[in-house]
Amino acid sequence: MRSSESHRKPSDRGRERRITQAAVEGWGWGSIGVNVALSLLNLGIAVASGSLAVAAEMLHNLVDLMASVAVLVGLKISRRRSESFPYGLYKVENVIAVGVAGLILFTAFEIIREALFAHQRQTTVNPWMLAGVMLSAVIPLVFSHSELRAGKAANSPSLIAEAQEYRAHIFSSGVVLISLIGHIFGLSLDRPAALLVVFFIARTGWELLKDGMRVLLDASLDAETLAQVRQIIENDPATTQIKTLTGRNSGRYRFLEAEVTLRKDDLKKAHAVSQRIEQAIRAEVPHVERVLIHYEPTGSIHRRDAFPLANPDGRLSEHFGEAPYFALVTLRRADEAVEKQEVVENPHREVSKAKGIRVAEWLVSQKVDRVVLKESLQGKGPEYVFAAAGVQMILTEAETVSLALDALGS
Ligand SMILES: [Zn+2]
Repeated sequence: MRSSESHRKPSDRGRERRITQAAVEGWGWGSIGVNVALSLLNLGIAVASGSLAVAAEMLHNLVDLMASVAVLVGLKISRRRSESFPYGLYKVENVIAVGVAGLILFTAFEIIREALFAHQRQTTVNPWMLAGVMLSAVIPLVFSHSELRAGKAANSPSLIAEAQEYRAHIFSSGVVLISLIGHIFGLSLDRPAALLVVFFIARTGWELLKDGMRVLLDASLDAETLAQVRQIIENDPATTQIKTLTGRNSGRYRFLEAEVTLRKDDLKKAHAVSQRIEQAIRAEVPHVERVLIHYEPTGSIHRRDAFPLANPDGRLSEHFGEAPYFALVTLRRADEAVEKQEVVENPHREVSKAKGIRVAEWLVSQKVDRVVLKESLQGKGPEYVFAAAGVQMILTEAETVSLALDALGS
């Protein structure tokens, strides 16, 4: 069993950081600015009006501010690696998230206590306050529109999550606005409105806590991503078996590890295949920081040979792609004894274009190790398909499957 492991090349990482890291950090700073502005706006309205709902919305802004600061700090220090932390500091981001979540939940608890048990406060409402609350809904909405687009372009989950959270401000600011308008008409909606806003705050806190703890405790990658990776490995023509596949998150990055059996006889070729698989994974799955593939050449007990047939009785065909039938023979490697023999129809016989290649791909999917034929495939499409999959091609002069097997030493 050998292992191949790699991080992204330093040059790749540098380029990526120049293009997207700077942009992501720029939006992170913008988000901090928006939250400072909203906090100050709502602080002013809360003091002037004495409304608990507005105070809750201001705390909501402060919580968002802490979260956006945490995101930026995480972005800046999580990529560092040192002698004392050889695995990197990716999880700093999650530690910060869990800390912020604790603060958020504590804040929510304080507001709930205030809303349920504090003395009724004197509230005053004027049109300026209503305009201010409306403004505190419009600012994040406008900002989130551009932030979401930038987040998707940079493939940054933290920016996308932040932009989506800003959209919920329509509801929390809407609740505050309704409670202030209700006050003008003599309805006291202040405390229920404050409790509703707390609900938004607590929900954010809970999500942060849950996601952060999952990563800190090395929870598995989600099933969907693992299934996608499994499919990519299986799609490689040289893969015969996936023994194990695990993945975990660390910070925003994904770490994958797989034990795979490859249809290659020597380690050098197997290593090349493992690198090909790794590139395919990186091309399709975002945020993969490390792929560790343990591979071994097929040292398995059995071997599968394929023979193009002219008829179902075992007479070998002179051709490959046009052969109407194929014999698939499973042998024990130790003594070359035949364990199973079946004759199947060539499913691509009627195809007009690239017939040989289609047939070769089909045989690879049937997990064939060797193809024994009378027609040389040298320089033709099927030869390349078999070579890429590590399938051996053997020429024979024999007339039937059993004679060919005898000649090959079975
Ligand atoms: Zn918010």
